[in-house]
Amino acid sequence: MKFRVLAAILLSCHFAFSQTTLITADQLFDGNAMHTNWGIVVKENRIVEVGPVAKLRTKPDTTISYTGGSIMPGMIEGHSHVLLYPYDQTDWNDQVLKESRSLRAIRGSVMAKRNLMAGFTTIRDLGSEGAEYADVAVKQSIEQGITIGPRMLVAGKAIVATGSYGPKGFHPDVHVPLGAEPADGNDLIRVVRDQIGNGADFIKVYSDYRWGPNKEAMPTFSLEELKLIVETAKSSGRVVVAHASTNEGMRRATLAGVVSIEHGTDASDEVLKLMKERNVALCPTLAATYSITKYRGWDGQLPEPEGIKAKRNSFDKAIKNGVTIVAGGDVGVFPHGENALELTMMSDYGMPNIDVLKSVTSVNAKVFKLKELGELKTGYLADIIVVDGNPEKDINALKSIKMVMKDGEIYKK
Ligand SMILES: [Zn+2]
Repeated sequence: MKFRVLAAILLSCHFAFSQTTLITADQLFDGNAMHTNWGIVVKENRIVEVGPVAKLRTKPDTTISYTGGSIMPGMIEGHSHVLLYPYDQTDWNDQVLKESRSLRAIRGSVMAKRNLMAGFTTIRDLGSEGAEYADVAVKQSIEQGITIGPRMLVAGKAIVATGSYGPKGFHPDVHVPLGAEPADGNDLIRVVRDQIGNGADFIKVYSDYRWGPNKEAMPTFSLEELKLIVETAKSSGRVVVAHASTNEGMRRATLAGVVSIEHGTDASDEVLKLMKERNVALCPTLAATYSITKYRGWDGQLPEPEGIKAKRNSFDKAIKNGVTIVAGGDVGVFPHGENALELTMMSDYGMPNIDVLKSVTSVNAKVFKLKELGELKTGYLADIIVVDGNPEKDINALKSIKMVMKDGEIYKK
């Protein structure tokens, strides 16, 4: 009797899970190239076949067709902060100082879901900004099926040099919570290990910050300190990413062996060449610079302020030097769910649309070492989206998401 019940359960499970679904649309971008009249077959949480619809061998149980749309790999956000929201709504200082970690974690869960619904099935979250390990909790909540959101790679607290980071300007006797964890010298070993132990998937370090005599960005950690951080993280199988906007901050981070540099505005050709040589990627966060400049009063019209011109120029220089560009906008500085702003800006700043599409899918997957993601290939995980229109022709199509599938499950249809 027991056996029969078990067999019945197994049979019904087998039936339910063996459904194959064919998804078709006018175009299919597989992570490398755009194809016309291709389809993709999904079974359970895997891709079982991809190719011209007429040549597919699998007989699907169901078919979903999107006329006028394009199938793509789920997009990968290279630089998010689910624990932050736009500074024109609440100043960064007030978010860090006045809001409880609990409130921030709850809001973070809602923001994470907005990333998924915008077609980003994976996000690399670059620091909790004073909310301790709330990013780890948001990730766990998604993994345990409590809340809905993208796959997450999280940094945890992030590391800053003592005295460099904010919030600033308080009486020295008052201990205000900082936006990241300060550490220096040999203590960096303990802090890196502690962050790993608390759930950091990678280590984020600020290799420069606005702490110069005139509040300008200046390098923080020495090359030796950065090397110590990279070496300690590496022995646990983790990589380090560096916030850096100054040329010297970028140079040190590159020599230390970080995997990517975030922002990277003031790079010289020499440092960009070094990045290319050492296989260090750049995450330009164009949308953050654009948004912050607007919060400071720019109306978005021509002529563009100097800071925006500098950003255009540095992005162009990085491409010309052949540096790998990972797509990441610093979303959280601007609204979660509007992640595609970075992609439309990359296009506007001169990157061919097909390269923007590669950057936000296969390139990000490669740099972030996400196996079985970022491409539509047989055997890969079924993280698939459909956008309205052809994003190779008009990048704005990425703002119009028709379908989102993560791990074989449809979240938006
Ligand atoms: Zn950031």
